[in-house]
Amino acid sequence: MNSSLNAARRERELAEVRDLVVDVLVVGLGATGAGAALDAASRGLSVAAIDAHDMAFGTSRWSSKMIHGGLRYLAKGQVGVAYESAVERGHLLGRTAPHLVRAHPYLLPLVPEVSRRHAALVMTGYRAGEGLRIAARTPRHLLPGPSRISAAQALALASPLASRGLRGALLSWDGRLADDARLVVAVARTAAAQGARILTRCRALELSGEGALVRDELGGDTFTIRARTVVNATGVWAAGLHPGIRLRPSRGTHLVLRPETLPGLAAGLHVPIPGESNRFALVLPQPDGRVHVGLTDEPVDGPVPDVPPVPEEDVTFLLAVLNSVLEEPVRREDVAGTYAGLRPLLAADGRTADLSRRHALLTTPDGMVTIVGGKLTTYRRMAEDAVDRAVSLGRLDAGRSRTTELPLVGAVPAAGPEGADGGNGGKGADGERGREADRLLERYGSEAGSVRALMAEDPWLAEPGPTGVTGAELVWAVRHEGALDVDDLLDRRTRIGLVPQDRTAALPLAHAALAY
Ligand SMILES: Cc1cc2nc3c(=O)[nH]c(=O)nc-3n(C[C@H](O)[C@H](O)[C@H](O)COP(=O)(O)OP(=O)(O)OC[C@H]3O[C@@H](n4cnc5c(N)ncnc54)[C@H](O)[C@@H]3O)c2cc1C
Repeated sequence: MNSSLNAARRERELAEVRDLVVDVLVVGLGATGAGAALDAASRGLSVAAIDAHDMAFGTSRWSSKMIHGGLRYLAKGQVGVAYESAVERGHLLGRTAPHLVRAHPYLLPLVPEVSRRHAALVMTGYRAGEGLRIAARTPRHLLPGPSRISAAQALALASPLASRGLRGALLSWDGRLADDARLVVAVARTAAAQGARILTRCRALELSGEGALVRDELGGDTFTIRARTVVNATGVWAAGLHPGIRLRPSRGTHLVLRPETLPGLAAGLHVPIPGESNRFALVLPQPDGRVHVGLTDEPVDGPVPDVPPVPEEDVTFLLAVLNSVLEEPVRREDVAGTYAGLRPLLAADGRTADLSRRHALLTTPDGMVTIVGGKLTTYRRMAEDAVDRAVSLGRLDAGRSRTTELPLVGAVPAAGPEGADGGNGGKGADGERGREADRLLERYGSEAGSVRALMAEDPWLAEPGPTGVTGAELVWAVRHEGALDVDDLLDRRTRIGLVPQDRTAALPLAHAALAY
């Protein structure tokens, strides 16, 4: 079946689901729910998957876009969680999404605040991470090992670093997503290609093991979707649909800087947080040239908002940590955008920073399966576990999960790491056209040629808007990626909206794409 999602397909499938009893109803189209839809559909089950808003509307678009090897968990003695992360990272890098996920270099600058003992401890951790890579059978050519580099080498990779007192840096590698929201869309479209009905703007009002009362948020009418089993993958909103679950959301904030604010970053940075032995702020150069700086970990009480606001104290904190390693401080007015996400952590005693990131499966007496916790990196494994449980509870006739072997829409052969030498993994960006080709390849993979062909349809479609995004990409999103309105286009299919000024500038382009 076709992977294209659009308004016409939504209308058709919305009409179909009213008369069916599907094998699996998935609620929530973040990474976890989209993964569950794909897992179930690729086992031959009939699937409907709904989201109250859009694909990737929730936490999945507010991540740091790291595909972790799980080193943090190893440091806390959570070996199983760390190993699972490393295995999932290997699947994404090597087979399922090599266009969206590649190895990226990170530096831990050895500034005077990092003692020799601390540096030695961190290096020991990195070497343990190498062990995880080997155990997960991820080839070294996809994920290089760690090393210690000199101050001059560190400054060549990250010129904004303060040179005074810099002894060198620890260089390590981990997976990085070109765009977290695009991963979700790719998973959902792959599910659609396997026959899943992906229905955005459909809110579950009530949920049980036998289906959901659903409101079409566009048409306004309410109807029932009947199902043999139900997977609740609503992340931080899960407790609203599953009585008895207690979540303890934790807010993670990022700053967004324009390319010119922090130029010269060929590697990301791990910046030690003063007074914390094993926590680092992250400086994350993005493929579009912007730089994200994160992230906080603050418990949040009260009702869960659709889009979490960013308190000013998070901005102040992140700027202070960032500036502790820079030659020229970044000022408040240089912060072009901010965003926050809520981690869907299960309630337990202790600091949210210490709560386990392992996912949990919970079942209601009438057979609804709720999956929470975990992380973006392990979405596939979470989905597999949830569908295994649903299959067993519903006594469905289905084989084993196939998703480790199933490339996502757009997957191309793995290109190798992004070079710490400033190279590009052999993709050959040569001049402006080469860079544009690479940008499209990283976002669209094997579909990049079709996006480029669309540019040739009309001159305005090839004109780059903010962050270089063209009208053709927006039209592609409307025709094939299920974008239904301006917000879908600017805030999830592209990330122009992370900088409010750019978003305003791109509005005419988005309206033109919807009308085209
Ligand atoms: C700041 C931050 C940074 C992170 N960084 C990383 C990282 O770098 N790497 C990593 O691996 N992990 C990271 N994580 C963790 C990861 O992002 C999350 O664990 C993951 O995205 C959760 O995905 P999800 O699909 O479970 O939930 P979500 O993405 O929140 O999806 C839930 C969906 O359910 C929908 N929904 C809610 N209620 C209803 C309803 N009634 N009816 C229908 N739909 C509904 C919502 O609209 C939403 O789309 C980070 C988390 C945070 C907060």
